[in-house]
Amino acid sequence: MEPLSFTPLLKQIRWGGTKLGSLLNKAVGAADDYAESWEIADHDSGQSVVAGGPFAGKTLRELIASHRSELLGRQSDMSQFPLLIKFLDANDWLSLQVHPNDRQALTWNPDEKGKTEAWIIVGAEPDSQICAGLQQGVTRDEFQRHLQDGTVENTLHLIPAVPGDCIYVPAQTVHAIGPGIVLAEVQQQSNLTFRLHDWGRVGADGKPREIHVEESLACIDFERGPVNPVVPVELASGDHQCEELVRCDYFVIRRHHSVKTIDLELDDRFRIVMVLDGRTELTTESGPLTLARGETLLLPASLQQAKFTPSAQVTFLEILTP
Ligand SMILES: [Zn+2]
Repeated sequence: MEPLSFTPLLKQIRWGGTKLGSLLNKAVGAADDYAESWEIADHDSGQSVVAGGPFAGKTLRELIASHRSELLGRQSDMSQFPLLIKFLDANDWLSLQVHPNDRQALTWNPDEKGKTEAWIIVGAEPDSQICAGLQQGVTRDEFQRHLQDGTVENTLHLIPAVPGDCIYVPAQTVHAIGPGIVLAEVQQQSNLTFRLHDWGRVGADGKPREIHVEESLACIDFERGPVNPVVPVELASGDHQCEELVRCDYFVIRRHHSVKTIDLELDDRFRIVMVLDGRTELTTESGPLTLARGETLLLPASLQQAKFTPSAQVTFLEILTP
């Protein structure tokens, strides 16, 4: 089976912008509210469709049903594709939110998973900020009081958004993405989100969006405290730099930066490649193809060879499940 490229599922939401087109080359239209590009999804709210080649028009779910072992290899026992992969363009604060863990998710929807996620900042304005967790020592009572008083801002841990930084946000962590930020997002295949606070705004219909205070309070881990950007683990240096950004129960994220040809190590598990910068040729046993900034590719588990030859230099994420 050859590498699979999917048609991005573009989501227009009030807080979106135009950078998915201008920065990441997505086929956006004339609107100015392109918020998310779902690059790889196997969810009821979005199902990826293969963009070209022999499987063109097939959904990811259909492919898993028909080509399970080629696609998933030694992880063929998965019932659903485990990851949801997106690019985001935030031009306003996203709602303050929290996601349940797997166990908690069952309480609300037996078909959903929890959601642990990670963000890799692709672009940010100098004053862009992210809310990552609560300030040290904030208790449930304090948090609830500030939420009621409309002063929840005083409890949040805000950090600057710096291009290249990776923020790992486990389920049960309070978080929000601020304006001026473009990022790549890796998350569990889930869409279960509880909104705590929407900064006093209204939705497209002129009414405040639904807030889920009770559900949120039931999910938040108040012991977690502030979250800071990950400290990458260097796996290779020199002409080909490789860092492990995240390794958790749900995904592993590595970032490669190279000026020379690299042979990606494959091991009968799928790999997702997201190009964040530059351009590269990718040669596999099914031939060469070109990958540029903003493109995402799914390398099926059955692939034997993946050789990247950058035009000048390339930076890409390699994402897999442990
Ligand atoms: Zn989230």
